[in-house]
Amino acid sequence: MRRKLAAGNWKMNGLTGSIVELEALIEGVGTDPDCDVLICPPSTLITRFADRASGSAITIGGQDCHAGAAGAHTGDISAEMLKDAGATHVIVGHSERRSDHGEDDATVNAKTRAAWRAGLTAIVCIGESEAERDAGQTLAIVGEQLTSSLPDGAAAGNTVIAYEPLWAIGTGRTPSGEDIATVHQAIREMLEKRFGGEGSSIRILYGGSMNPGNAAEIMAIENVDGGLVGGASLKAADFLQVIEAARG
Ligand code: PEP
Repeated sequence: MRRKLAAGNWKMNGLTGSIVELEALIEGVGTDPDCDVLICPPSTLITRFADRASGSAITIGGQDCHAGAAGAHTGDISAEMLKDAGATHVIVGHSERRSDHGEDDATVNAKTRAAWRAGLTAIVCIGESEAERDAGQTLAIVGEQLTSSLPDGAAAGNTVIAYEPLWAIGTGRTPSGEDIATVHQAIREMLEKRFGGEGSSIRILYGGSMNPGNAAEIMAIENVDGGLVGGASLKAADFLQVIEAARG
């Protein structure tokens, strides 16, 4: 039985005052939410958020990390630094990193290994573009990304997969429930083939325009083990409804 994970990706949003949203979440979630709840704020807020969330049911994650532990990489942040700041997870290979920063599967693979090295759980993002989907290539693209982005040694304790169709991120559009089920089932089979029993336990999140209106329906789909949520995670009132859907 996989416990669901509701993960919020704040992207490049949030200033000091945004801690009121975290505080509302902590209060709304309570001590036993019946699912895992993660907030990934911008790195400037990780220490503050981790301190505030300490002892609560909410954990804090980073949105990206460098593959190296330290060194001459101006502006970058290492997995060890995220861990030191209080993070438990880090998102790697988000499509905005892949497109804005030219990250390929090899880079994502190295970042995943960096996350593990630092003791963080890697949330590895994969997903097809609209053109790839229209060309009937979704499963081939997702399979290739999964194979190349995931190092050997992936397990439920160090890895979460996020299936995020690029065309659904921030657009208000989502695949049909049937399409989500098909892709998640295919990812599950690939994980089990490569990682055996661990492949059955690794959580697979859906991401892309999940919101209070569609979360319950999506969370109920087989092999959807939670959501990676952008826009609808910024306001506690919205994200609490997504979390409620994750509770089932
Ligand atoms: C995301 O950025 O991972 C995401 C799913 O964004 P949104 O929920 O806003 O589509």
